[in-house]
Amino acid sequence: MIHLNANDLALAKSLAQLKAASGSHSPSIATLKEALPSLKITIDACFLSNPYATDLFMQELESKLLAKQGLRDALEFYPSQNHIIAQKLAKYLHIDSPHIFIGNGAIEVIQAVLHNFVQTNLVVPIPTFSSYYEFVRNDAKVLLYKLPKEQNYTLDIEAYTKFIQDHNAKNALLINPNNPDGGYIPYDTLRECLARLRHLDTIIIDESFLHFAYEDSSLEQISYTKLAQEFSNVVLIKSMSKDFGVAGLRAGYGIMAENRVRDLLRNGYLWNVNGLSEFFFNLFCDDEFLQKYERVRRSYITQTQEFFKALGQINSIKTYPSRANFALIELLNGTKAQDLCIKLLSSYGIYTRSCSDKIGLEGEFLRIASRSEQENAQILQALQEIFSAC
Ligand SMILES: *Cc1c(COP(=O)(O)O)cnc(C)c1O
Repeated sequence: MIHLNANDLALAKSLAQLKAASGSHSPSIATLKEALPSLKITIDACFLSNPYATDLFMQELESKLLAKQGLRDALEFYPSQNHIIAQKLAKYLHIDSPHIFIGNGAIEVIQAVLHNFVQTNLVVPIPTFSSYYEFVRNDAKVLLYKLPKEQNYTLDIEAYTKFIQDHNAKNALLINPNNPDGGYIPYDTLRECLARLRHLDTIIIDESFLHFAYEDSSLEQISYTKLAQEFSNVVLIKSMSKDFGVAGLRAGYGIMAENRVRDLLRNGYLWNVNGLSEFFFNLFCDDEFLQKYERVRRSYITQTQEFFKALGQINSIKTYPSRANFALIELLNGTKAQDLCIKLLSSYGIYTRSCSDKIGLEGEFLRIASRSEQENAQILQALQEIFSAC
């Protein structure tokens, strides 16, 4: 068992308070540092981003914006309107721009879609990203579909489509790869699922972690844009926060039927993307940037999968199969997830996500993000030390 000393217990108490003030999300590193200045956090394995992509963005920002005196313009002037930024992404996404809605982070797209297009009810597989059941309209019912633990939380489309039919559901959600377990539905299976759900009003596919997924060893980038063209009830939602490592920018988008984008834009969302995010979206018209990004994406996937393999070899924990950039681990020796989370933070400066508040998870779970190769090695060493002493 993990032994917590008086300092650890005090930290646990402060963390619990900060967490309570953050709803179903974890307090950010900045919040922690402000509230607990004596706490040394060296690795943020709670937030789920590719650190190499952040490095790349910083280089671009310095050479293409700061060095060219572009920062003042980005701050002084209005950014482009939503539909103009959509045109910049259209080429990269291989879809006409009237299908693209740009959001101030994916969270704004989620809120807009749930409030405008999801009436009566929504089926949400759990465990999940909490916003999908928290932000539905008051008059819409959430139907929770439990992913089976004994099958590593893998979604079975037979069972899922049957659940949808049995409940006469009108809308459904798929997060692929899923958060918090990283489970991945292969492209052909997903397509088959959509073909069976043509009668629904809306199927939301959240592809925020798709750049970390792969179908074979070529690690080719997967795109669902064709599925959104084939099935008019599909709404794709994507955050740029994780794969591009730019959560502070607040950039995301949705792909959906043209009339839906038109409806949303009529409601507002004119200059909802700021000047720095527009600079970021401009990079999608830049082949050189895309090539560089592709290199950091692939090498990060390779390192991430090696990290998961090593996690899988630690005694007393189970690492669930993941094609995202984080692993869900279950503690099997009676250790409490919260205690492990505190120990990692207080003794090693490693911030992770205890999943005690995630609905649909029964047991003791922690979610650990893959960071740089060196940080991953430190995380592994910390876990090995903790579990060899248990
Ligand atoms: C983080 C996350 C989001 C929100 O992303 P932002 O673009 O930062 O708002 C949306 N969906 C899932 C599944 C996420 O994990």
